[in-house]
Amino acid sequence: MSYKILLLFCLSLLVSFVSCNKDDEEDDPNTSTHVFDQTLLNSNNLISSVTLIEAAMSDGSTADCYQVVFKCNPVGDGPYCPETINDIGGVGIYDGNTNPGFQVMKAALWDAMEADGYDIVDENGNISIADPGSGAPPSGGACLEAAPDANLELTFLIPAAPKNASSNDEIEIVENVGVSVDGIPLTGHPPSATQTNGGPGGGGAIPSIDPCGGHIDPFGYYHLHFGAEAMNEVLEANSITDVSCSNFTQSQTAFVGYAKDGYPIYSSHDSDVTEPTDLDECYGHTSATTDYPDGIYHYHISNSEAPNLPPCLKGISAQDAFTYE
Ligand SMILES: [Zn+2]
Ligand SMILES: [Zn+2]
Repeated sequence: MSYKILLLFCLSLLVSFVSCNKDDEEDDPNTSTHVFDQTLLNSNNLISSVTLIEAAMSDGSTADCYQVVFKCNPVGDGPYCPETINDIGGVGIYDGNTNPGFQVMKAALWDAMEADGYDIVDENGNISIADPGSGAPPSGGACLEAAPDANLELTFLIPAAPKNASSNDEIEIVENVGVSVDGIPLTGHPPSATQTNGGPGGGGAIPSIDPCGGHIDPFGYYHLHFGAEAMNEVLEANSITDVSCSNFTQSQTAFVGYAKDGYPIYSSHDSDVTEPTDLDECYGHTSATTDYPDGIYHYHISNSEAPNLPPCLKGISAQDAFTYE
């Protein structure tokens, strides 16, 4: 037996010994098929080490998911509601009859809400501001602005190996979409201003959003209704010039985070700084990325839509994809 063959024989013995040992561990996953890569997430914001658990999925199955626990409110935020009709706050999405749409929180918005029957400005020009975390907004109308709770821990379950569902998960209002690179929940559309209680016959409570597309939930955690990395392009595309996003680095190619179905989300462009032209209805397509050079299905955020997160997801998510305590 030549030296080389002997070496190979010894090596194969060693390999089988190691794999035998591995087999002794229950449910040892083949991590080579895993898409989730914790090194893409901002480890400074992690509370504990990332663990692999078996989780109940939305389709009734079980699957290996990475459990990632982040501290809340890791990034600066605001401004939100302006104090008076002469001030400028953050942004809002108004769905009333007069002057609807994505806009800055300033006089034109309050004038429109007053024209639609809501009493949101008093005789001194002060805006009615309410904290949705401390009860129902006052009747008449209000700009909603909640207080942060720094002690919350946010837990995300991300499927290790994404598996497509039989139909798209159409993201509903305030439904979790995934987790950002900083550990911030990515969330579907904010609540309707005309249907959130606050005004006569209900309605008239408009959630305030900061210029990066996020705000504090009534329970105290900051979350993003927008992919913040493309926010200044979104503001520009919507002719908003009074405010801009400065709390998040703007980038056309950044890794934005993971969708709750396990697929990565990128900013508006691919790594070669071209805008993809083959996106599906969920803003997704398959191509190579910087982090996945062999190619992977991934979503993009829009640099013009408001909000700009993927409107649907292709894969199966965990039942408790996002929880907090
Ligand atoms: Zn929200
Ligand atoms: Zn792409």
